[in-house]
Amino acid sequence: MKKIIILGGGTAGWMTANLMVEQWREQIANDQLSITLIESSGIGVIGVGEGSTPRLKDFFDKINIQEKDWMRECNATYKNGILFNNWSNREGFDSYFHPFISIIDAHTAPAFVYNTQFKRQGYDVDCTVDRFFLAATLAKQQKVPLGSENFPFDIGYGYHFDAVLLGRFLSKVAIEKGVKHVSATVKDVNLNQAGNIEQLAIDNGQHINGDLFVDCSGFASVLLQKTLQVPFISFKENLFNDSAVTIATPRVKHSKLGSQTISTAMKHGWAWDIPLTNRTGNGYVYSSEFCSPEQAENELREKLGLTDTNIEANHLKMKVGRVEKHWVKNCVGVGLSQGFIEPLEATALHFVCETIENFIEAYSAINFTDSTVSTNQIEQYQNQFNDKLNARFEGIRDYIVAHYRLSDRSDTEYWRRNSNNPNISNDLKKIVQCWLKGDDLNKALIQPGMVSFYPPVSWHAILSGYGVFPTTNDKLAFNAQAHKYDLAHIDQFISRSALNFIDHQTFLNKMSNS
Ligand SMILES: Cc1cc2nc3c(=O)[nH]c(=O)nc-3n(C[C@H](O)[C@H](O)[C@H](O)COP(=O)(O)OP(=O)(O)OC[C@H]3O[C@@H](n4cnc5c(N)ncnc54)[C@H](O)[C@@H]3O)c2cc1C
Repeated sequence: MKKIIILGGGTAGWMTANLMVEQWREQIANDQLSITLIESSGIGVIGVGEGSTPRLKDFFDKINIQEKDWMRECNATYKNGILFNNWSNREGFDSYFHPFISIIDAHTAPAFVYNTQFKRQGYDVDCTVDRFFLAATLAKQQKVPLGSENFPFDIGYGYHFDAVLLGRFLSKVAIEKGVKHVSATVKDVNLNQAGNIEQLAIDNGQHINGDLFVDCSGFASVLLQKTLQVPFISFKENLFNDSAVTIATPRVKHSKLGSQTISTAMKHGWAWDIPLTNRTGNGYVYSSEFCSPEQAENELREKLGLTDTNIEANHLKMKVGRVEKHWVKNCVGVGLSQGFIEPLEATALHFVCETIENFIEAYSAINFTDSTVSTNQIEQYQNQFNDKLNARFEGIRDYIVAHYRLSDRSDTEYWRRNSNNPNISNDLKKIVQCWLKGDDLNKALIQPGMVSFYPPVSWHAILSGYGVFPTTNDKLAFNAQAHKYDLAHIDQFISRSALNFIDHQTFLNKMSNS
Protein backbone atom coordinates (compact mmCIF):
# COMPACT_ATOMS: atom_id res chain seq x y z
CA MET A 1 0.00 0.00 0.00
CA LYS A 2 1.25 3.51 -0.90
CA LYS A 3 0.98 6.01 1.92
CA ILE A 4 0.40 9.70 1.26
CA ILE A 5 1.09 11.98 4.22
CA ILE A 6 -0.22 15.56 4.15
CA LEU A 7 1.47 17.83 6.68
CA GLY A 8 -0.81 20.74 7.59
CA GLY A 9 -4.53 21.22 8.20
CA GLY A 10 -5.05 24.75 6.84
CA THR A 11 -7.25 25.35 3.80
CA ALA A 12 -4.47 24.03 1.53
CA GLY A 13 -4.10 20.77 3.47
CA TRP A 14 -7.82 20.00 3.57
CA MET A 15 -8.37 20.98 -0.05
CA THR A 16 -5.54 18.63 -1.01
CA ALA A 17 -7.01 15.83 1.11
CA ASN A 18 -10.45 16.28 -0.46
CA LEU A 19 -9.27 16.32 -4.06
CA MET A 20 -7.00 13.32 -3.54
CA VAL A 21 -9.54 11.20 -1.68
CA GLU A 22 -12.11 11.95 -4.39
CA GLN A 23 -9.70 11.19 -7.22
CA TRP A 24 -8.26 8.00 -5.76
CA ARG A 25 -11.39 6.50 -4.18
CA GLU A 26 -10.86 3.20 -5.97
CA GLN A 27 -7.24 2.79 -4.89
CA ILE A 28 -8.23 3.60 -1.31
CA ALA A 29 -11.11 1.11 -1.38
CA ASN A 30 -8.73 -1.57 -2.74
CA ASP A 31 -6.17 -0.92 -0.01
CA GLN A 32 -3.62 0.26 -2.58
CA LEU A 33 -3.46 3.73 -1.06
CA SER A 34 -3.97 5.53 2.24
CA ILE A 35 -4.07 9.27 2.94
CA THR A 36 -3.18 10.71 6.36
CA LEU A 37 -3.28 14.38 7.33
CA ILE A 38 -1.24 15.62 10.29
CA GLU A 39 -1.92 19.01 11.83
CA SER A 40 -0.82 20.75 14.96
CA SER A 41 -3.54 22.35 17.09
CA GLY A 42 -0.76 24.17 18.97
CA ILE A 43 0.52 25.89 15.83
CA GLY A 44 -2.92 26.47 14.32
CA VAL A 45 -3.79 27.87 10.90
CA ILE A 46 -3.17 31.31 9.40
CA GLY A 47 -6.93 31.98 9.56
CA VAL A 48 -7.13 34.55 6.76
CA GLY A 49 -8.00 34.15 3.09
CA GLU A 50 -11.67 34.97 2.77
CA GLY A 51 -12.10 35.65 -0.95
CA SER A 52 -11.86 33.39 -3.98
CA THR A 53 -11.87 33.32 -7.74
CA PRO A 54 -14.40 31.17 -9.69
CA ARG A 55 -11.95 28.29 -9.34
CA LEU A 56 -13.34 27.51 -5.88
CA LYS A 57 -16.68 26.66 -7.46
CA ASP A 58 -14.92 24.12 -9.71
CA PHE A 59 -13.26 22.69 -6.62
CA PHE A 60 -16.59 22.10 -4.85
CA ASP A 61 -18.08 20.66 -8.05
CA LYS A 62 -15.15 18.24 -8.28
CA ILE A 63 -15.64 16.97 -4.74
CA ASN A 64 -19.43 16.83 -5.19
CA ILE A 65 -20.34 19.34 -2.52
CA GLN A 66 -23.28 21.65 -3.16
CA GLU A 67 -23.41 25.31 -2.21
CA LYS A 68 -26.29 24.79 0.19
CA ASP A 69 -24.15 22.28 2.09
CA TRP A 70 -21.08 24.42 2.64
CA MET A 71 -22.01 28.09 2.25
CA ARG A 72 -24.28 28.30 5.28
CA GLU A 73 -21.70 26.56 7.49
CA CYS A 74 -18.97 28.98 6.40
CA ASN A 75 -21.02 32.23 6.52
CA ALA A 76 -20.27 32.50 2.82
CA THR A 77 -21.51 35.08 0.30
CA TYR A 78 -21.23 35.37 -3.47
CA LYS A 79 -18.58 37.49 -5.16
CA ASN A 80 -19.03 39.08 -8.59
CA GLY A 81 -15.55 40.60 -8.68
CA ILE A 82 -13.46 43.30 -7.06
CA LEU A 83 -14.10 47.03 -6.85
CA PHE A 84 -10.84 48.99 -6.82
CA ASN A 85 -11.07 52.38 -5.12
CA ASN A 86 -8.45 55.16 -5.10
CA TRP A 87 -5.75 53.24 -6.99
CA SER A 88 -5.50 55.88 -9.69
CA ASN A 89 -5.40 59.67 -9.43
CA ARG A 90 -6.23 60.18 -13.09
CA GLU A 91 -9.30 62.34 -13.45
CA GLY A 92 -12.47 60.28 -13.77
CA PHE A 93 -10.66 57.04 -12.94
CA ASP A 94 -10.72 56.89 -9.15
CA SER A 95 -12.55 53.57 -9.17
CA TYR A 96 -13.10 50.57 -11.44
CA PHE A 97 -14.48 47.06 -11.23
CA HIS A 98 -12.59 43.88 -12.13
CA PRO A 99 -15.42 41.52 -13.11
CA PHE A 100 -15.56 37.75 -13.23
CA ILE A 101 -16.60 37.18 -16.79
CA SER A 102 -19.39 34.96 -18.12
CA ILE A 103 -20.66 33.68 -21.45
CA ILE A 104 -23.27 36.44 -21.50
CA ASP A 105 -20.44 39.01 -21.67
CA ALA A 106 -19.67 37.71 -25.16
CA HIS A 107 -22.36 40.20 -26.26
CA THR A 108 -20.76 43.22 -24.64
CA ALA A 109 -17.05 42.53 -24.03
CA PRO A 110 -16.15 43.00 -27.73
CA ALA A 111 -17.55 46.54 -27.54
CA PHE A 112 -15.43 47.23 -24.46
CA VAL A 113 -12.24 45.95 -26.10
CA TYR A 114 -13.06 47.79 -29.34
CA ASN A 115 -13.64 51.06 -27.51
CA THR A 116 -10.39 50.76 -25.54
CA GLN A 117 -8.56 50.54 -28.83
CA PHE A 118 -10.14 53.73 -30.17
CA LYS A 119 -9.71 55.51 -26.85
CA ARG A 120 -5.99 54.74 -27.08
CA GLN A 121 -5.97 56.40 -30.47
CA GLY A 122 -7.46 59.55 -28.95
CA TYR A 123 -11.15 59.17 -29.79
CA ASP A 124 -13.62 60.25 -27.18
CA VAL A 125 -15.38 56.92 -26.67
CA ASP A 126 -16.48 55.39 -23.39
CA CYS A 127 -14.59 52.36 -22.15
CA THR A 128 -15.55 52.43 -18.48
CA VAL A 129 -15.17 48.77 -17.53
CA ASP A 130 -18.25 48.73 -15.30
CA ARG A 131 -20.56 49.62 -18.16
CA PHE A 132 -19.83 46.53 -20.23
CA PHE A 133 -20.00 43.59 -17.81
CA LEU A 134 -23.03 42.10 -16.13
CA ALA A 135 -20.98 41.22 -13.01
CA ALA A 136 -20.33 44.92 -12.38
CA THR A 137 -24.04 45.72 -12.44
CA LEU A 138 -24.88 42.76 -10.20
CA ALA A 139 -22.23 43.95 -7.74
CA LYS A 140 -23.54 47.52 -7.83
CA GLN A 141 -27.09 46.30 -7.22
CA GLN A 142 -25.80 43.90 -4.50
CA LYS A 143 -27.25 40.91 -6.31
CA VAL A 144 -26.13 37.28 -6.28
CA PRO A 145 -24.82 35.82 -9.54
CA LEU A 146 -27.48 33.12 -9.82
CA GLY A 147 -29.93 33.78 -12.62
CA SER A 148 -33.63 32.94 -12.46
CA GLU A 149 -34.77 29.62 -13.88
CA ASN A 150 -35.44 31.14 -17.30
CA PHE A 151 -32.09 32.85 -17.54
CA PRO A 152 -30.17 30.85 -20.16
CA PHE A 153 -26.55 31.61 -19.17
CA ASP A 154 -24.28 30.34 -16.41
CA ILE A 155 -22.55 33.20 -14.61
CA GLY A 156 -18.93 33.10 -13.42
CA TYR A 157 -18.47 33.95 -9.76
CA GLY A 158 -16.35 33.45 -6.67
CA TYR A 159 -17.15 33.46 -2.96
CA HIS A 160 -16.38 35.15 0.32
CA PHE A 161 -16.20 32.86 3.37
CA ASP A 162 -14.81 32.41 6.86
CA ALA A 163 -11.44 30.71 6.29
CA VAL A 164 -11.42 28.88 9.63
CA LEU A 165 -14.95 27.53 9.15
CA LEU A 166 -14.12 26.48 5.59
CA GLY A 167 -11.13 24.46 6.87
CA ARG A 168 -13.35 22.82 9.49
CA PHE A 169 -16.02 21.97 6.94
CA LEU A 170 -13.50 20.47 4.53
CA SER A 171 -11.89 18.40 7.29
CA LYS A 172 -15.26 16.84 8.14
CA VAL A 173 -15.89 15.91 4.51
CA ALA A 174 -12.41 14.47 3.96
CA ILE A 175 -12.47 12.40 7.15
CA GLU A 176 -15.91 11.02 6.25
CA LYS A 177 -14.50 9.95 2.88
CA GLY A 178 -11.62 8.04 4.47
CA VAL A 179 -8.74 10.47 5.15
CA LYS A 180 -6.98 9.59 8.40
CA HIS A 181 -6.43 12.51 10.76
CA VAL A 182 -3.57 12.84 13.25
CA SER A 183 -3.41 15.77 15.63
CA ALA A 184 0.29 16.22 16.43
CA THR A 185 3.27 18.49 15.95
CA VAL A 186 6.07 17.28 13.71
CA LYS A 187 9.35 17.66 15.57
CA ASP A 188 11.76 16.04 13.17
CA VAL A 189 11.93 14.69 9.63
CA ASN A 190 14.03 11.66 8.66
CA LEU A 191 15.41 11.19 5.16
CA ASN A 192 16.58 7.95 3.53
CA GLN A 193 19.90 7.55 1.73
CA ALA A 194 18.49 8.79 -1.57
CA GLY A 195 17.41 12.01 0.14
CA ASN A 196 13.70 11.17 0.07
CA ILE A 197 11.55 11.80 3.13
CA GLU A 198 11.04 8.55 4.99
CA GLN A 199 9.24 9.45 8.17
CA LEU A 200 8.02 12.28 10.36
CA ALA A 201 8.74 12.23 14.08
CA ILE A 202 5.77 13.58 16.02
CA ASP A 203 5.59 15.02 19.53
CA ASN A 204 4.31 11.85 21.25
CA GLY A 205 7.50 10.02 20.23
CA GLN A 206 5.89 8.12 17.34
CA HIS A 207 7.11 8.07 13.75
CA ILE A 208 4.84 8.29 10.73
CA ASN A 209 6.15 6.68 7.55
CA GLY A 210 5.07 7.59 4.04
CA ASP A 211 5.82 7.21 0.34
CA LEU A 212 4.70 10.67 -0.74
CA PHE A 213 4.63 13.77 1.49
CA VAL A 214 2.54 16.86 0.74
CA ASP A 215 3.86 19.95 2.48
CA CYS A 216 0.88 22.12 3.48
CA SER A 217 2.61 23.50 6.57
CA GLY A 218 2.07 27.14 5.60
CA PHE A 219 4.83 29.76 5.62
CA ALA A 220 6.89 27.39 7.87
CA SER A 221 7.36 25.09 4.84
CA VAL A 222 8.65 22.37 7.17
CA LEU A 223 9.33 19.77 4.47
CA LEU A 224 10.05 21.60 1.24
CA GLN A 225 12.12 24.56 2.41
CA LYS A 226 13.33 23.53 5.88
CA THR A 227 14.07 19.84 5.33
CA LEU A 228 14.75 19.52 1.61
CA GLN A 229 16.36 22.97 1.49
CA VAL A 230 14.50 24.06 -1.65
CA PRO A 231 15.52 27.70 -2.25
CA PHE A 232 12.92 30.45 -1.93
CA ILE A 233 12.80 33.12 -4.65
CA SER A 234 11.57 36.33 -3.08
CA PHE A 235 9.39 38.78 -5.07
CA LYS A 236 10.18 41.65 -2.72
CA GLU A 237 11.84 43.70 -5.48
CA ASN A 238 8.58 43.58 -7.44
CA LEU A 239 6.02 43.56 -4.65
CA PHE A 240 6.81 45.53 -1.49
CA ASN A 241 4.01 44.39 0.81
CA ASP A 242 5.09 41.98 3.53
CA SER A 243 2.62 42.54 6.38
CA ALA A 244 -1.07 42.73 7.14
CA VAL A 245 -3.37 43.76 9.93
CA THR A 246 -6.94 42.49 10.10
CA ILE A 247 -10.01 43.63 12.05
CA ALA A 248 -13.38 41.91 11.75
CA THR A 249 -16.46 44.07 12.27
CA PRO A 250 -19.96 42.74 13.01
CA ARG A 251 -22.49 43.02 10.22
CA VAL A 252 -24.67 46.07 10.68
CA LYS A 253 -28.19 44.79 11.43
CA HIS A 254 -30.54 44.87 8.44
CA SER A 255 -27.79 46.18 6.16
CA LYS A 256 -27.86 44.92 2.59
CA LEU A 257 -25.18 42.30 1.95
CA GLY A 258 -22.67 43.19 -0.75
CA SER A 259 -21.55 40.82 -3.49
CA GLN A 260 -18.11 42.22 -4.27
CA THR A 261 -14.76 42.57 -2.55
CA ILE A 262 -13.73 46.20 -2.12
CA SER A 263 -10.05 46.98 -2.38
CA THR A 264 -9.11 50.51 -1.34
CA ALA A 265 -5.63 51.92 -1.85
CA MET A 266 -4.17 53.25 1.42
CA LYS A 267 -1.05 55.27 2.26
CA HIS A 268 1.29 52.27 2.35
CA GLY A 269 -0.69 49.49 0.67
CA TRP A 270 -4.36 48.64 0.34
CA ALA A 271 -7.31 47.54 2.46
CA TRP A 272 -9.89 44.86 1.78
CA ASP A 273 -13.54 44.80 2.73
CA ILE A 274 -15.17 41.39 2.47
CA PRO A 275 -18.85 40.89 3.31
CA LEU A 276 -19.77 37.65 5.10
CA THR A 277 -23.25 36.79 6.32
CA ASN A 278 -22.34 37.54 9.96
CA ARG A 279 -19.48 40.06 9.71
CA THR A 280 -17.25 42.08 7.47
CA GLY A 281 -13.65 40.99 7.07
CA ASN A 282 -11.33 44.00 6.94
CA GLY A 283 -7.60 44.00 6.47
CA TYR A 284 -4.76 46.29 5.49
CA VAL A 285 -1.89 44.82 3.48
CA TYR A 286 1.18 47.07 3.71
CA SER A 287 4.94 47.24 3.46
CA SER A 288 6.84 47.30 6.76
CA GLU A 289 9.60 49.20 5.02
CA PHE A 290 7.34 52.23 4.81
CA CYS A 291 5.09 51.97 7.85
CA SER A 292 5.01 50.38 11.31
CA PRO A 293 2.32 47.91 12.47
CA GLU A 294 0.94 50.63 14.80
CA GLN A 295 0.65 53.14 11.94
CA ALA A 296 -1.06 50.55 9.76
CA GLU A 297 -3.49 49.58 12.52
CA ASN A 298 -4.31 53.24 13.18
CA GLU A 299 -4.89 53.95 9.50
CA LEU A 300 -7.18 50.93 9.22
CA ARG A 301 -9.07 51.90 12.40
CA GLU A 302 -9.51 55.39 11.03
CA LYS A 303 -10.88 54.03 7.77
CA LEU A 304 -13.35 51.85 9.69
CA GLY A 305 -14.30 54.55 12.18
CA LEU A 306 -12.93 52.44 15.03
CA THR A 307 -10.36 54.76 16.61
CA ASP A 308 -12.17 54.87 19.94
CA THR A 309 -12.83 51.16 20.33
CA ASN A 310 -10.57 48.34 21.45
CA ILE A 311 -12.01 45.85 18.97
CA GLU A 312 -9.21 43.36 18.42
CA ALA A 313 -6.69 43.63 15.57
CA ASN A 314 -4.58 40.75 14.31
CA HIS A 315 -1.09 41.36 12.86
CA LEU A 316 0.51 39.03 10.31
CA LYS A 317 3.74 38.76 8.34
CA MET A 318 3.73 37.53 4.73
CA LYS A 319 6.52 35.91 2.76
CA VAL A 320 5.97 36.90 -0.87
CA GLY A 321 7.63 34.81 -3.58
CA ARG A 322 7.83 31.18 -4.62
CA VAL A 323 9.98 28.11 -4.09
CA GLU A 324 12.41 27.24 -6.87
CA LYS A 325 10.71 23.84 -7.30
CA HIS A 326 7.32 22.75 -6.01
CA TRP A 327 7.80 18.98 -6.34
CA VAL A 328 11.17 17.67 -5.21
CA LYS A 329 12.11 14.06 -4.37
CA ASN A 330 8.97 12.51 -2.80
CA CYS A 331 7.54 15.81 -1.58
CA VAL A 332 5.19 18.35 -3.17
CA GLY A 333 4.37 21.73 -1.67
CA VAL A 334 0.82 23.10 -1.75
CA GLY A 335 -0.35 26.45 -0.38
CA LEU A 336 1.74 28.97 1.50
CA SER A 337 4.59 26.44 1.83
CA GLN A 338 5.18 26.70 -1.96
CA GLY A 339 4.85 30.50 -2.12
CA PHE A 340 2.44 33.38 -1.99
CA ILE A 341 1.73 36.41 -4.18
CA GLU A 342 -0.02 38.76 -1.76
CA PRO A 343 -3.82 38.65 -1.60
CA LEU A 344 -4.79 41.53 -3.92
CA GLU A 345 -6.69 39.39 -6.44
CA ALA A 346 -7.39 36.50 -4.03
CA THR A 347 -5.38 34.06 -6.11
CA ALA A 348 -3.90 31.82 -3.39
CA LEU A 349 -6.65 29.18 -3.21
CA HIS A 350 -6.91 29.31 -7.00
CA PHE A 351 -3.25 28.36 -7.04
CA VAL A 352 -3.83 25.60 -4.48
CA CYS A 353 -6.40 24.02 -6.86
CA GLU A 354 -4.07 24.48 -9.80
CA THR A 355 -1.21 22.77 -7.96
CA ILE A 356 -3.13 19.77 -6.66
CA GLU A 357 -4.96 19.16 -9.92
CA ASN A 358 -1.74 19.26 -11.92
CA PHE A 359 -0.05 17.05 -9.38
CA ILE A 360 -2.85 14.48 -9.37
CA GLU A 361 -2.70 14.37 -13.16
CA ALA A 362 1.06 13.83 -13.21
CA TYR A 363 1.10 11.37 -10.33
CA SER A 364 -1.71 9.34 -11.89
CA ALA A 365 0.14 9.31 -15.22
CA ILE A 366 3.21 7.87 -13.50
CA ASN A 367 1.04 5.00 -12.31
CA PHE A 368 2.30 5.50 -8.78
CA THR A 369 1.04 2.25 -7.34
CA ASP A 370 3.48 0.41 -9.63
CA SER A 371 6.79 0.00 -7.76
CA THR A 372 8.80 -0.50 -10.97
CA VAL A 373 8.50 3.13 -12.10
CA SER A 374 11.98 4.56 -12.63
CA THR A 375 13.35 7.73 -11.03
CA ASN A 376 13.98 9.13 -14.54
CA GLN A 377 10.32 8.78 -15.44
CA ILE A 378 9.28 10.57 -12.26
CA GLU A 379 11.81 13.36 -12.82
CA GLN A 380 10.41 14.04 -16.26
CA TYR A 381 6.97 14.68 -14.80
CA GLN A 382 8.44 16.68 -11.95
CA ASN A 383 10.28 19.01 -14.32
CA GLN A 384 7.18 19.66 -16.42
CA PHE A 385 5.11 20.25 -13.30
CA ASN A 386 7.65 22.65 -11.76
CA ASP A 387 8.12 24.63 -14.98
CA LYS A 388 4.37 25.00 -15.43
CA LEU A 389 3.77 26.23 -11.89
CA ASN A 390 6.71 28.61 -11.96
CA ALA A 391 5.48 30.21 -15.18
CA ARG A 392 2.04 30.54 -13.64
CA PHE A 393 3.42 32.11 -10.46
CA GLU A 394 5.26 34.67 -12.52
CA GLY A 395 2.31 35.40 -14.81
CA ILE A 396 0.05 36.09 -11.83
CA ARG A 397 2.78 38.14 -10.16
CA ASP A 398 2.99 40.40 -13.25
CA TYR A 399 -0.71 41.14 -13.13
CA ILE A 400 -0.49 42.02 -9.43
CA VAL A 401 2.62 44.16 -10.02
CA ALA A 402 0.68 46.09 -12.69
CA HIS A 403 -1.69 47.37 -9.97
CA TYR A 404 1.20 49.17 -8.29
CA ARG A 405 3.35 50.09 -11.26
CA LEU A 406 0.49 51.66 -13.22
CA SER A 407 -0.74 53.76 -10.32
CA ASP A 408 0.08 57.45 -10.55
CA ARG A 409 -0.41 58.03 -6.80
CA SER A 410 2.42 60.06 -5.38
CA ASP A 411 1.12 60.99 -1.91
CA THR A 412 3.67 58.82 -0.03
CA GLU A 413 7.14 57.42 -0.61
CA TYR A 414 5.50 53.98 -0.87
CA TRP A 415 3.49 54.98 -3.95
CA ARG A 416 6.32 56.99 -5.51
CA ARG A 417 8.63 54.00 -5.23
CA ASN A 418 5.97 51.68 -6.61
CA SER A 419 5.10 53.80 -9.63
CA ASN A 420 8.80 54.19 -10.47
CA ASN A 421 9.80 50.62 -9.70
CA PRO A 422 12.24 49.51 -12.42
CA ASN A 423 11.90 45.84 -11.41
CA ILE A 424 9.21 44.71 -13.76
CA SER A 425 9.34 41.69 -16.03
CA ASN A 426 9.82 41.87 -19.78
CA ASP A 427 6.35 40.39 -20.25
CA LEU A 428 4.76 43.19 -18.29
CA LYS A 429 6.81 45.78 -20.18
CA LYS A 430 5.63 44.28 -23.48
CA ILE A 431 1.98 44.32 -22.40
CA VAL A 432 2.10 47.98 -21.37
CA GLN A 433 4.05 48.99 -24.50
CA CYS A 434 1.56 47.21 -26.74
CA TRP A 435 -1.30 49.00 -24.97
CA LEU A 436 0.28 52.43 -25.21
CA LYS A 437 1.19 51.94 -28.87
CA GLY A 438 -2.49 51.38 -29.59
CA ASP A 439 -1.87 47.81 -30.83
CA ASP A 440 -4.30 44.93 -30.49
CA LEU A 441 -3.67 43.60 -26.98
CA ASN A 442 -6.00 40.61 -27.48
CA LYS A 443 -3.85 39.40 -30.32
CA ALA A 444 -0.57 40.23 -28.63
CA LEU A 445 -1.43 38.31 -25.46
CA ILE A 446 -1.82 35.05 -27.31
CA GLN A 447 1.46 35.39 -29.20
CA PRO A 448 4.35 33.16 -28.11
CA GLY A 449 6.73 34.96 -25.80
CA MET A 450 4.01 37.18 -24.39
CA VAL A 451 3.09 35.02 -21.47
CA SER A 452 0.23 36.10 -19.26
CA PHE A 453 -1.96 34.08 -17.01
CA TYR A 454 -4.74 36.61 -16.79
CA PRO A 455 -7.37 36.74 -19.53
CA PRO A 456 -7.14 39.66 -21.98
CA VAL A 457 -10.32 41.19 -20.53
CA SER A 458 -8.59 41.51 -17.13
CA TRP A 459 -5.67 43.36 -18.73
CA HIS A 460 -8.05 45.65 -20.59
CA ALA A 461 -9.96 46.19 -17.35
CA ILE A 462 -6.95 47.26 -15.31
CA LEU A 463 -5.37 49.42 -18.02
CA SER A 464 -8.53 51.28 -18.89
CA GLY A 465 -9.79 51.19 -15.29
CA TYR A 466 -6.69 53.12 -14.23
CA GLY A 467 -7.13 55.52 -17.15
CA VAL A 468 -3.78 54.59 -18.68
CA PHE A 469 -4.17 56.13 -22.12
CA PRO A 470 -1.61 57.82 -24.37
CA THR A 471 -1.78 61.56 -23.73
CA THR A 472 -2.98 63.54 -26.67
CA ASN A 473 -4.07 67.14 -26.60
CA ASP A 474 -6.59 66.83 -29.37
CA LYS A 475 -9.76 64.92 -28.91
CA LEU A 476 -10.52 63.50 -32.29
CA ALA A 477 -13.85 64.45 -33.75
CA PHE A 478 -16.80 62.12 -34.13
CA ASN A 479 -15.90 59.13 -36.19
CA ALA A 480 -18.44 56.53 -37.17
CA GLN A 481 -15.93 53.71 -36.97
CA ALA A 482 -14.89 54.67 -33.43
CA HIS A 483 -18.52 54.92 -32.36
CA LYS A 484 -19.52 51.63 -33.91
CA TYR A 485 -21.25 50.26 -30.80
CA ASP A 486 -24.53 51.60 -29.50
CA LEU A 487 -23.85 52.05 -25.78
CA ALA A 488 -27.46 52.78 -24.92
CA HIS A 489 -28.28 49.35 -26.29
CA ILE A 490 -25.54 47.80 -24.13
CA ASP A 491 -26.84 49.57 -21.00
CA GLN A 492 -30.29 48.29 -21.75
CA PHE A 493 -29.11 44.74 -22.40
CA ILE A 494 -27.23 44.63 -19.10
CA SER A 495 -29.92 46.23 -16.99
CA ARG A 496 -32.54 43.91 -18.49
CA SER A 497 -30.34 40.89 -17.81
CA ALA A 498 -29.82 42.04 -14.21
CA LEU A 499 -33.60 41.83 -13.63
CA ASN A 500 -33.19 38.04 -13.59
CA PHE A 501 -31.16 38.15 -10.38
CA ILE A 502 -32.08 38.53 -6.71
CA ASP A 503 -30.22 40.14 -3.82
CA HIS A 504 -28.31 38.29 -1.12
CA GLN A 505 -30.94 38.63 1.57
CA THR A 506 -33.72 37.22 -0.64
CA PHE A 507 -31.37 34.42 -1.57
CA LEU A 508 -30.50 33.67 2.08
CA ASN A 509 -34.17 33.68 3.06
CA LYS A 510 -34.92 31.27 0.22
CA MET A 511 -32.06 29.04 1.32
CA SER A 512 -33.20 28.87 4.92
CA ASN A 513 -36.78 28.08 3.83
CA SER A 514 -35.64 25.24 1.56
C1 LIG B 1 -3.19 38.73 4.80
C2 LIG B 1 -3.57 37.56 3.96
C3 LIG B 1 -4.75 37.60 3.23
C4 LIG B 1 -5.11 36.53 2.40
N1 LIG B 1 -6.25 36.60 1.65
C5 LIG B 1 -6.52 35.62 0.77
C6 LIG B 1 -7.69 35.66 -0.05
O1 LIG B 1 -8.49 36.58 0.01
N2 LIG B 1 -7.90 34.63 -0.90
C7 LIG B 1 -7.04 33.58 -1.01
O2 LIG B 1 -7.27 32.69 -1.84
N3 LIG B 1 -5.98 33.49 -0.20
C8 LIG B 1 -5.69 34.46 0.67
N4 LIG B 1 -4.60 34.36 1.48
C9 LIG B 1 -3.83 33.13 1.46
C10 LIG B 1 -4.55 32.06 2.28
O3 LIG B 1 -4.67 32.51 3.61
C11 LIG B 1 -3.79 30.75 2.26
O4 LIG B 1 -3.44 30.42 0.96
C12 LIG B 1 -4.66 29.63 2.79
O5 LIG B 1 -5.17 29.95 4.05
C13 LIG B 1 -3.90 28.34 2.85
O6 LIG B 1 -2.95 28.39 3.88
P1 LIG B 1 -2.14 27.09 4.19
O7 LIG B 1 -3.07 25.98 4.41
O8 LIG B 1 -1.09 26.93 3.15
O9 LIG B 1 -1.36 27.46 5.52
P2 LIG B 1 -1.89 27.57 7.13
O10 LIG B 1 -3.29 27.99 7.16
O11 LIG B 1 -0.86 28.37 7.76
O12 LIG B 1 -1.81 26.06 7.58
C14 LIG B 1 -0.61 25.46 7.94
C15 LIG B 1 -0.90 24.15 8.65
O13 LIG B 1 0.32 23.47 8.91
C16 LIG B 1 0.34 23.03 10.27
N5 LIG B 1 1.73 22.92 10.71
C17 LIG B 1 2.74 23.80 10.50
N6 LIG B 1 3.88 23.32 11.07
C18 LIG B 1 3.57 22.11 11.60
C19 LIG B 1 4.30 21.12 12.32
N7 LIG B 1 5.60 21.26 12.62
N8 LIG B 1 3.65 20.02 12.73
C20 LIG B 1 2.32 19.83 12.45
N9 LIG B 1 1.60 20.72 11.77
C21 LIG B 1 2.20 21.85 11.36
C22 LIG B 1 -0.46 24.12 11.00
O14 LIG B 1 -0.92 23.65 12.25
C23 LIG B 1 -1.59 24.32 10.01
O15 LIG B 1 -2.56 23.32 10.19
C24 LIG B 1 -4.25 35.40 2.33
C25 LIG B 1 -3.08 35.36 3.08
C26 LIG B 1 -2.72 36.42 3.88
C27 LIG B 1 -1.43 36.36 4.65
